[in-house]
Amino acid sequence: MVIRLEIGDVLTLKKAHPCGSKEWKIVRVGVDIGLRCVGCDRFVMVSRRKLEGKIREIYREGQYLKPQESTIEA
Ligand SMILES: [Zn+2]
Repeated sequence: MVIRLEIGDVLTLKKAHPCGSKEWKIVRVGVDIGLRCVGCDRFVMVSRRKLEGKIREIYREGQYLKPQESTIEA
């Protein structure tokens, strides 16, 4: 299962950032995903593989999706 991730999506992760926010906005998509913390604006690059297991929800176009509801057909 490959999770569909798009620039502009806001991810809710299982674990909170030290600033207290669990929401990260996707700003770059590739082998590594560029994320900006919604709480403190910190930018990080995370490998897609590492990130996929940490996602609780994906907010896209006004909808909250579970990761398993946002997949790319293999
Ligand atoms: Zn933060």
